[in-house]
Amino acid sequence: MLKGKHAVVTGSTSGIGLSIARELAANGANVVLNGFGDPDAIEKERAGLEQEFGVKSYYINADLSKAEPTRDFINKAAQTLGGIDILVNNAGIQHTDLIEDFPIDRWDAIIGLNLSAVFHGTAAALPHMKKQGWGRIINIASAHGLVASANKSAYVAAKHGVVGLTKVTALENAGNGVTCNAICPGWVRTPLVEKQIEALAKKLNVDIEAAAKELLAEKQPSLQFVTPKQLAGAAVFLASDAAEQMTGTTLSLDGGWTAR
Ligand code: NAD
Repeated sequence: MLKGKHAVVTGSTSGIGLSIARELAANGANVVLNGFGDPDAIEKERAGLEQEFGVKSYYINADLSKAEPTRDFINKAAQTLGGIDILVNNAGIQHTDLIEDFPIDRWDAIIGLNLSAVFHGTAAALPHMKKQGWGRIINIASAHGLVASANKSAYVAAKHGVVGLTKVTALENAGNGVTCNAICPGWVRTPLVEKQIEALAKKLNVDIEAAAKELLAEKQPSLQFVTPKQLAGAAVFLASDAAEQMTGTTLSLDGGWTAR
């Protein structure tokens, strides 16, 4: 479905981003991977995409928490791929604390990566997409882009910001072939959430699986985790022709979290 398209997925060495990169490649897109991790494991994933799906796959190391490196990363990715058709702004981090206890450096880091990197990545990718009259920008926001939870001030502010930025990007590009939408996942069991499950287990003095159930029970009516593969399917749909008139919107995969 995406044969010959060039895709960039930020934060794709783990979790949701890796699954999206795999699904885009499975549908024929060449991909640029990005994110931190063990170099051997990253190379294994990269080479695996080429072998399994017969596409071109590259890894570009860049810390996206700052403006210039993010813009340079996108331009380097476009140069490496020979263009950029699909940008998935996925990289993100979390920290939980009351507002008055929230470390300033954690606030800056979360806003920098979870929100500003989406702005800088989009700004750098748009000229490439507008030139060719086709592009898909897919922002991985969160249920926390639509509703709030205590102790997550930076994350909730950043993700609400991403939803707003998604709408502006859509309006500025309406009718020119470039769409922009946000995916809003509920709980997904990735390293980002595993840390929160471990903290809850400690707090409640229960084992990890009991804490995972508790985490779901608090927010997610389905009582089931969303899978990275399900989110990847949504990303492929947003990149498809069927989603051509879908822009500036949010797609919730949250087991009913935001329905109540
Ligand atoms: P994860 O921790 O598994 O993956 C995060 C990725 O971002 C990794 O590849 C990591 O190396 C990369 N990364 C971290 N800091 C970076 C930096 N400075 N520069 C470049 N890359 C960096 O987390 P995940 O759960 O897969 O999260 C992916 C996205 O999905 C995030 O934006 C997150 O907020 C969002 N999300 C996750 C959940 C969930 O329940 N896991 C729910 C809603 C939204």
